[in-house]
Order: sequence, then C-alpha cells, then structure tokens
Amino acid sequence: MVSLVEPQGLARDAIASRAAAVRERITAAALRAGRDPSLVRVMAVTKTFPVAAVEAAMAAGMDLFGENRVQEAQEKFTGLAGRYELHLVGHLQRNKARPAAQLFRCVQSIDKVETAEALSRQSVSLGKAMDVLLEVNTSGEDSKSGFRSRDELLRGLEAIAGLAGLRVRGLMTVGPLTGDQDRVRKAFSTLAALFREISASRPDAAFDVLSMGMSGDFEIAVEEGSTMVRLGTALLGERKAQA
Ligand SMILES: *Cc1c(COP(=O)(O)O)cnc(C)c1O
Repeated sequence: MVSLVEPQGLARDAIASRAAAVRERITAAALRAGRDPSLVRVMAVTKTFPVAAVEAAMAAGMDLFGENRVQEAQEKFTGLAGRYELHLVGHLQRNKARPAAQLFRCVQSIDKVETAEALSRQSVSLGKAMDVLLEVNTSGEDSKSGFRSRDELLRGLEAIAGLAGLRVRGLMTVGPLTGDQDRVRKAFSTLAALFREISASRPDAAFDVLSMGMSGDFEIAVEEGSTMVRLGTALLGERKAQA
C-alpha cells in the first residue's frame, strides 16, 4: 500500500488539473452559447484504463463513469467502494442484458427495440428502474451504431417508452470522426433539435439528457446543447489499447 501512495497521488493531481481545465472550457463554451454551464455533466470514460485510474479519478472528484464493455466494467467496478454512477456507453449485446442490468445506472447505447426489451425483462426481474438513452447515428458512418433517421428513432422511442423497468431519459451520439468542424457541428445541432422536439412532445417524462461530445469535440457539443460530455483522453491521458 505505502509504495502506491506517491504515484496515485500524482495521478490524482494530474486528473484533477485536467478536470479543472476541462471544466473551464465547458464553462466558456456554454457561456458563448448563452447556456448555464452547470447543466453540463462530465463523465470520465475509463475503458482500457486500470482500476487505479478509476480510483484516482474518484479521488479527484469525478463521480460519473462510463465503460464500453460489460465484462470490463464488471471486472473493474464490481465491489469498488465510493459514491459514483456508472453508465454503459458501448454497444450492448442481448446476451449481456442481465449483468448490464445489475451493474449500470444507465445504458446510453440502445439502438434496437430488441435490446431494450431484453434489458427491460432483466430490469423488471431485478426490481430496478434502468435509465436508458437512445443512440443516434449522426455521422452517417456505417461502422457506427445507432438509429439512423428521425423516423426510425421516433418509431423506436414509441416502442421502448412503453417497456416496464426502463426510463427513456434522452439521446446519445458519437459525432463524426473528422477534422471538419462544420460537419461535427451540423451533426450535433441536428441531434439537439430532435432532442428538443421529443422533449417538448413528452412533457410528463424526464427526457432531459443529451449525451454528446468527446475529448476532440466537446466544446462544439456544449455550444450546441449537450448536457453530458463523455471524456476519456482529455481527463485520463492517452489510451494504450484501442477499444
Ligand atoms: C471512448 C469513448 C468516449 C471517450 O473518448 P475520448 O475521445 O477519449 O474522450 C466517449 N464515448 C464513447 C461511446 C466512447 O466509446
């Protein structure tokens, strides 16, 4: 234990200073758009990072975490002490619905009615209310998951909103991977408009989460209305393996 104090302290300080820098950039972006900066939550995406990095991030004050694989999340977070919220941000296979229902507070990557149905059954059997976001493919890239059109999304929403054990809280997207900032902004503004439209049509539901923005594009996302940015490298440094 003793030998770990120094490196962990350093990691914690590094993460804390990155978190403060990120916060400042979010605040500036929100203010540029006339938004309240306090309405933007920051998630630490810890995929591929060891549990020591999670603990260091917690020590630095982070309390919202994202993982993209059920099994990796299980290995890292099961039994991890502390007060935090854990979300799944990667694709969910139907045969992982049970451990997902046990482990996560929110599944952000619902892109099929069938997946939502499987998660619904498991959440009901655990007596749990699971938050979900519907993932939208805003990039047009075939490799990305998510509902692909407004119609597909609205039909999916209608089917999923009625499922027991689930609460549809909003939308999520991974923006286009490109240096073309106009394309990125267009993707985010299109999704934000859809989000507002759905939100207005569901006045009784808490449809209030718009999860968009990663390390390379979170300021654009905040300017366009994001309420949750998902940050890996900007908070924790470069990932060794690609997930
Ligand atoms: C990896 C990942 C992130 C974070 O990526 P960075 O570019 O490191 O900030 C966010 N969202 C999802 C869905 C991811 O898979």
